[in-house]
Amino acid sequence: MTGRWVLGIESTAHTLSFGLVDQNGKPKPSVSKIIRPTTGGIHPREAADHHVEQSSEIFSRILHENNLVPNDIGIVAYSQGPGMGACLRTGAAAGRAISSHLNVPLIGVNHCVAHIEIGREQCGCDDPILLYVSGGNTQVIARLDGRYRVLGETLDIGIGNMLDKFARKHGIPFPGGPVIEKKALEWITENPDSTLEGLELPYAVHGMDLAFSGIMSAANKLVSDGKPFEAVCWSLQEHAFAACVEVAERALAHTGKTEIVLGGGVACNERMRNMSSIMCQERGATSYCPPKMYCIDNGTMIARLGWLETNHGRVTKLTQSAIDQELRTDQTPISWA
Ligand code: AMP
Ligand code: MG
Repeated sequence: MTGRWVLGIESTAHTLSFGLVDQNGKPKPSVSKIIRPTTGGIHPREAADHHVEQSSEIFSRILHENNLVPNDIGIVAYSQGPGMGACLRTGAAAGRAISSHLNVPLIGVNHCVAHIEIGREQCGCDDPILLYVSGGNTQVIARLDGRYRVLGETLDIGIGNMLDKFARKHGIPFPGGPVIEKKALEWITENPDSTLEGLELPYAVHGMDLAFSGIMSAANKLVSDGKPFEAVCWSLQEHAFAACVEVAERALAHTGKTEIVLGGGVACNERMRNMSSIMCQERGATSYCPPKMYCIDNGTMIARLGWLETNHGRVTKLTQSAIDQELRTDQTPISWA
């Protein structure tokens, strides 16, 4: 290895992000650009074009902000999947180009596993259940027999996607989740005695799985029936987050584990964090929340997983570096402690 740093490139969806860890796996904050369409949702081709346009500037900035030169990079990691094909290809192409140019190893990593590993590193937890609540993914994951296994997941859309779509229908551009959080907080602050009566929504739990499109349609109907928008935002959060926390609690009960770590953009939500903490307190477990910059998609988590993988002898040959849109969390062997 010529350099000492691991570069991580994240490009699974709306975010292009470059991050770093040092030779001891210690993270440095990422430099990121998020595409924010003025109308409609994230179009994969437009997001990919955005990532291509931004990549050289972001690469220069991450080096500059850490007083590094390209030769300080000793390993290049990129998100190999899952995600939107067009977006993933831009990060993979950047990764191949940088690693070939610098003549350093390339490592393609699993985006979902990266969320867990940055959470473990940041929170100092050992063997947590990951409650992974992001735009495109909603999964409850636990480590068992050398893999991170999916114990429950959404059967339709990701929870963040559901919040964004609901917000969009009511004129709020992407990302809608933070605005819904603000509206919900306004409602409950101004109406502290509020109950869910008249604001009931379908319950999103299906066994150990979840589903969010029904709850979104029902929330839209409440708004068109004349319920205050802020009240519906509050009810939507209460119902959707309770469903996720319930599945996570059952995962704790089944596995006997005692830690939860949150990951994904929706894990930035204070109510989600608070509900998970309450549940854990009630059953003698601990809920960990990484800093928000490491909950959302970020290049640093990709670098951290690249560091773990390469320390355990794995590299990705150019001929095996194709992206895999459908990569599953449990396809990646986990050989580290
Ligand atoms: P990710 O896909 O993990 O990068 O996360 C992006 C998703 O997180 C989008 O759907 C956002 O709306 C959602 N999100 C970000 N911040 C919040 C928040 N404070 N509350 C709810 N959702 C959020
Ligand atoms: Mg993610």
